[in-house]
Amino acid sequence: MAQISAEQVRDDVNAWLDSAWDPTITVAEWWKRLAASGYASPMLPESMGGKGYTRDLSIAVSNAMGARGVVGAAMGLGLMLAAPTIAVHGSPEQQATYIPRILDGTDGWCQLFSEPGAGSDLAGLGCKAELDGDEYVITGQKVWTSGGQHADWGMLLARTNPDAPKHQGITYFAFHMHQPGVEVRPLREMTGRAMFNEVFIDEARVPVANIIGGLNNGWAVANTTLMVERASLGSGSSGGLGVALPGSLAGHLERTVGEFVVERTGSSAGSIGGGTVKLLTGLARHTGCINDPTVRQGLAELHTLTEVNKFNMLRARSGQRSTQVEGNLAKLLTTHTLRRAREIGNQIIGAQGMLWGPDSLSGGIVQELTVFSPGPSIYGGTDQVQRNIVSERGLGLPKEPGDFRTTPYRDLPKNG
Ligand SMILES: Cc1cc2nc3c(=O)[nH]c(=O)nc-3n(C[C@H](O)[C@H](O)[C@H](O)COP(=O)(O)OP(=O)(O)OC[C@H]3O[C@@H](n4cnc5c(N)ncnc54)[C@H](O)[C@@H]3O)c2cc1C
Repeated sequence: MAQISAEQVRDDVNAWLDSAWDPTITVAEWWKRLAASGYASPMLPESMGGKGYTRDLSIAVSNAMGARGVVGAAMGLGLMLAAPTIAVHGSPEQQATYIPRILDGTDGWCQLFSEPGAGSDLAGLGCKAELDGDEYVITGQKVWTSGGQHADWGMLLARTNPDAPKHQGITYFAFHMHQPGVEVRPLREMTGRAMFNEVFIDEARVPVANIIGGLNNGWAVANTTLMVERASLGSGSSGGLGVALPGSLAGHLERTVGEFVVERTGSSAGSIGGGTVKLLTGLARHTGCINDPTVRQGLAELHTLTEVNKFNMLRARSGQRSTQVEGNLAKLLTTHTLRRAREIGNQIIGAQGMLWGPDSLSGGIVQELTVFSPGPSIYGGTDQVQRNIVSERGLGLPKEPGDFRTTPYRDLPKNG
């Protein structure tokens, strides 16, 4: 692709929006226009409905759309994780089947990775897939499944060979959620919402043709999903759950897109950047504590942390002096910065932090940050797991002891 600048991208997006944006059309119609333009997921190759842009140019697209206050692409784990994974590991038929329906929001996806006995030790998962003709029969339990209640499809990891060592007997499936044997039960979080779910799978079926990336090669495919997730969370994405949700179950597709236009504060509970620092600085001015030296120091610290993270990501994108673990470092820095923002925000608003809702001081943003901030340190791999990866893959330190890499899964000690 010919070189194109961020300014040119901004101008192109603005010119396109002049004719395409219409707040009176339905969400479904808007997302179809967005998908056809290539701006729904600009980093995908043009042959798969994207623009073949770098991450920087893709950010220029979201910034241009954000500045115009229009509704963004059909955010969710389909756009954030499934599409980039299928783009790398899917067959041309799978790419043509799944990606267009993700880009235009027809289908919502969820990530069926974690289980009650397999979170950090994801490769120890026990959900089993047994071949029956040209289908696999799936039985097991998944947990913490974000958006599972709205999903049409799941990125399912299941064990296809219990005799192989645990990393080698896993397969990655595109799993249809609306079928007998699949029960989704919401789990309420301390935010008061139920973003995630338990998913019980009892002899549900998935065709052999839905294997992504080859039989027993699921660990490599899952690592692509996890790498995309960590880089994306570290670069300031809020976790992929946007204002309008994709898929027929969420019930947003036939509503008017104008209903989903929200005032942008530059801040959301799961991400942090200059917008949050500006917001907290404004709050400190408003409450009169801007001259408190510890508040000033805290704000300067937040500014420094967000800038350092920005430079880290720039280094990753430039491909120069890469350590291969920039995504992990970015996620770690983001979760640390979120916790500091929570502390400094509460220092600024004081006892007002106990009030909830849009009428409370800060419009509820600091309060939301407070209850949501533990989540990002856990999802996409905990902080401790990120540190293990940085030390093993980035610094070359010895791996954790044990013969788990060679012992057949069936012979490994299991959680009760
Ligand atoms: C808001 C939210 C959304 C989520 N969404 C999804 C989703 O959509 N799909 C999905 O599949 N999962 C999802 N998860 C699950 C998430 O990926 C897991 O919670 C995470 O991987 C940790 O697993 P666990 O909860 O089983 O904790 P455990 O693995 O049991 O860990 C418990 C503690 O032990 C530490 N620990 C474990 N192993 C090691 C080690 N080797 N070295 C050092 N410390 C260690 C951990 O860091 C942690 O502090 C979500 C979680 C949250 C909080």
